[in-house]
Amino acid sequence: MIFLDAAATTPVRREVIEAMFPFLTNQFGNPSSHHELGEQAAAALAGARAWAAAVLGCHPEELTFTSGGTEADNLALKGIALARRAADPRRNRVVVSAIEHPAIAESAAYLRRVHGFTVDVVPVGPDALVDPAGFARLLHGRPDGGTAGRDVAVASVMYANNEVGTVQDIPALAAAARGLGVPFHTDAVQAAGWLDLDVGALGVSALSLSGHKVGAPKGVGLLYLRGGVPCEPLVHGGGQERGTRSGTENVAFAVALATALRLSDAGRGTAVDHATAVRDRFIDQVLDRVPAARLTGHRTRRLPSVASFCFPGTSGESVLLELERRSIICSSGSACAAGADEPSQVLTAMGVDRAVAQTALRFSFGADATNDALDRAAGELEAAVQRLGSYAAAGTSSRSRRKIQ
Ligand code: PLP
Repeated sequence: MIFLDAAATTPVRREVIEAMFPFLTNQFGNPSSHHELGEQAAAALAGARAWAAAVLGCHPEELTFTSGGTEADNLALKGIALARRAADPRRNRVVVSAIEHPAIAESAAYLRRVHGFTVDVVPVGPDALVDPAGFARLLHGRPDGGTAGRDVAVASVMYANNEVGTVQDIPALAAAARGLGVPFHTDAVQAAGWLDLDVGALGVSALSLSGHKVGAPKGVGLLYLRGGVPCEPLVHGGGQERGTRSGTENVAFAVALATALRLSDAGRGTAVDHATAVRDRFIDQVLDRVPAARLTGHRTRRLPSVASFCFPGTSGESVLLELERRSIICSSGSACAAGADEPSQVLTAMGVDRAVAQTALRFSFGADATNDALDRAAGELEAAVQRLGSYAAAGTSSRSRRKIQ
């Protein structure tokens, strides 16, 4: 099997299992307990926080461990929006990009539906890039009597897109928000392991990460919240994580996440060079061998690990299944809504025709990807598309539940 779905998830690294193992077995204490076992656990948690802080270039107290990227995104968007509006009721607007992961898009929808916020969506270009000048204008408000961002509670634009891999100019976007005094959050779940996570260089107020994209288990994540940025907790209880997120801390998973982050950050330079070369060769081969293929996302400002295409005239789902039959594992770009196939909102936001959007496939890989494996994948893809080329795009899906993660 050739696994080309690393953007969905990754296996847990051996070093990570070894680092977390003691905290699942003999050092099983509760970090809030005032005895030796508890103190051991508290020290391990503090160590994990310090390691993660070293990767992000922040203070350990600015980090909150969560149950994953989804919870970190929810906490950032809802927590900051609610806290900032409580301090000033004029801050009733939330600004997000058109290509956010559902963890942000649905949090924004919730803020509108339940709390009456206005949600403004910043568009993207055909390559999925947000224009920093357009973003600044949207934050500022309407040209006739704009609010200079005073009514914006929080803004969020993802670092790297999970479907097409486009990497945003986060320093420029964050600077635009900072200039107007608006807290800026970025979902860096897909960026981890590939891009610089230094929050000072990025200039962000908040940043989300997820463990299972970088070799830690599923079910652990992290939220960086710059000191002084207010955030209303979503989970109430014993006041752990300095009151930001109650619940007995998952010490083993915090250690796992910190270990995985450290390892992936340490190997980042080499991984990026290798993956970029492998990716570019794969993209060239696919565009060369499959005449119908159209690359989606930005040609160069993209994750080293993601190659994504549409194949007009085919069905993405059928090609996906045909590839799986040939032992190539990837993702289709169509997410399902209420049982019916809907084209990807990311692709339609990029201006891709709805029918074409339903022919999308994403190939994503880790630092261990080889040219041999991807050459074989390109060959199998060519054969699969040829075989299925006559299928109509619409109405052929049999496995519509495969969502892009
Ligand atoms: N944000 C992005 C960009 C993602 O790709 C994912 C992955 O599924 C998430 C958020 C959610 O992270 P998690 O699976 O840890 O909840």
